[in-house]
Amino acid sequence: MKGFAMLKIGEVGWIEKDRPKCGPLDAIIRPTALAPCTSDVHTVYEGAVGDRHNMILGHEAVGIVDEVGSMVKDFKPGDEVIVPAITPDWDNEAALRGYSSQTGGALGGWKFSNFKDGVFSDYFHVNMADSNLALKPEGMSLEAAVMIPDMLSTGFMGAENANIEIGASVAVLGIGAVGLCGIAGASLRGAGRIFAVGTRPISVEVAKKYGATDIISYKDGDTAEQILEATDGEGVDAVIVSGGGPNILIDAFKIAKAGSTISNNNYFGSGEGDRDTIPLPREGWAYGMGDKNLITGLCPGGRVRMEQLADIVTYGRMDPELMTTHVFKGFDKVEEGLELMREKPKDLIKPVVLIED
Ligand code: NDP
Ligand code: ZN
Repeated sequence: MKGFAMLKIGEVGWIEKDRPKCGPLDAIIRPTALAPCTSDVHTVYEGAVGDRHNMILGHEAVGIVDEVGSMVKDFKPGDEVIVPAITPDWDNEAALRGYSSQTGGALGGWKFSNFKDGVFSDYFHVNMADSNLALKPEGMSLEAAVMIPDMLSTGFMGAENANIEIGASVAVLGIGAVGLCGIAGASLRGAGRIFAVGTRPISVEVAKKYGATDIISYKDGDTAEQILEATDGEGVDAVIVSGGGPNILIDAFKIAKAGSTISNNNYFGSGEGDRDTIPLPREGWAYGMGDKNLITGLCPGGRVRMEQLADIVTYGRMDPELMTTHVFKGFDKVEEGLELMREKPKDLIKPVVLIED
């Protein structure tokens, strides 16, 4: 079978591999829609999680079940499924404690394109199919469905972790697809005022549709100063971090009120200054004593999460298709899609590749 792979740090290409084997609890999936991710860019071009050789990329997919293991109860060949980016081992100690994304070690639930071949492939393997797959609702477009495995799950996690109360003020730093879902999530949780920080015009437009009340350009001056000025020096009740480099936490801490939560979605793949540490502001953090909470997370995966997010789409609570700015046809276009994610042209939020037989 053919796959689009990270050959080594900084290099991608098409490779041939054997079709994966299906264990008793597992499934083999044939993708019908794929989406390249900023995280693929961090992994390949920044070598963020270390070198990987000939590892097939991609972790955002919708597909058709091709084969199931002997112990799989709820899925059969031919089923159309949403596949979470994160596919935990649900019998792992971390999962049993409620941290399923970190099963088997840090980021261990993130198997595709991290610890095993990803989804940019003719066929790919899913562990614990009954716990990790979700049926794609009939009538849901592929373009909408393929935003669920990572963009909705991560962006909404940003809002959930931020502990947003009804009427709370929220700042979302970064409005690519992840931050836009953070805005939609903040709206769903009942935020009052929502600051959106970013510049791409297409993102600004969608941010307003998802509920942003104030748009801030980090290119027009210091982000923290602009938000503090707009809030009479008070700052905000919650901050969702979904863009920028490691220094973005300096802005986040400066604008966070006492008692607030800073919810980080960022994958700090590389960045300014020292590669191994991420700075926090001394004064903005009240010298380490500011009652400001930093909470971080890896996108939640698994079947129930996918089913709940699918309901958000099915019942019209948000429209993910507003984010799919580029739709390609044909598996080969995955390469172009990834390159777009790397370049981030002004008219891009998220590319989707539809696979045709
Ligand atoms: P994008 O690159 O599409 O968006 C980044 C956003 O950040 C853009 O709006 C950009 O502005 C903005 N930005 C850039 N610099 C600054 C700055 N200094 N201050 C404020 N905003 C800034 O990324 P994605 O939405 O695809 O992903 C966001 C992050 O989430 C990435 O690090 C990604 O790897 C990570 N991620 C994490 C996951 C997790 O499980 N935790 C899962 C998936 C993704 P502009 O409009 O000018 O481009
Ligand atoms: Zn992703």
